[in-house]
Amino acid sequence: MKLVFATNNQHKFQEINKKLENKIELLSLNDLDFHDEIPESHETIEENAKEKAQFIYNRYHINCFADDTGLEIDALNGRPGVYSARYAGETCSFEDNMKKVLLEMTGISNRKAKFRTIIALVEEGNTHYFEGIVHGNILGSPRGHEGFGYDPVFQPEGFDKTFAEMTLHDKNKISHRALALNKLIEYLNNKKQ
Ligand code: IMP
Repeated sequence: MKLVFATNNQHKFQEINKKLENKIELLSLNDLDFHDEIPESHETIEENAKEKAQFIYNRYHINCFADDTGLEIDALNGRPGVYSARYAGETCSFEDNMKKVLLEMTGISNRKAKFRTIIALVEEGNTHYFEGIVHGNILGSPRGHEGFGYDPVFQPEGFDKTFAEMTLHDKNKISHRALALNKLIEYLNNKKQ
């Protein structure tokens, strides 16, 4: 069974390809010789994930999935959410985004937040969604140098380290993306029995 993962992020691609144990032939956008930007024009991570998967499915007629992730902070009414990548502006860095969040959280005692990943699988034209959530807290200042994005300010519940103080291996065991991926993998593996 062929399946496309609509991402340009080789890291994410390798991560899931490893978990599929070669049972499914996973294709990257590179394999399809697709090098353009895929549109992400919606207000929710569900719609964006679906748009990306549907876009590739429509063009190549191969089943396809895509992911989208947001950091949702309770005290900021769910922001940065779908705007996590570009919260401080179109060309901002991870650090700019973190600084903006920390500034907005100044003096706020409710630090609860969650990372939420949605994977949309477009299979024979039908869409299936898989969700992964990690609850945690936003710290007052960054800690750690691993990972990316908001990792240095996010401490998952039940741990005394931020995501940026964990090894990639340890983060991948509990991360929002891993949880969503595991649900997708379970679905795919069950289908093949
Ligand atoms: P994407 O949908 O995976 O591209 O994620 C959108 C944005 O959310 C990224 O640019 C990061 O700012 C943030 N993000 C996603 N996943 C993580 C993570 O595991 N740690 C920290 N930030 C993340």
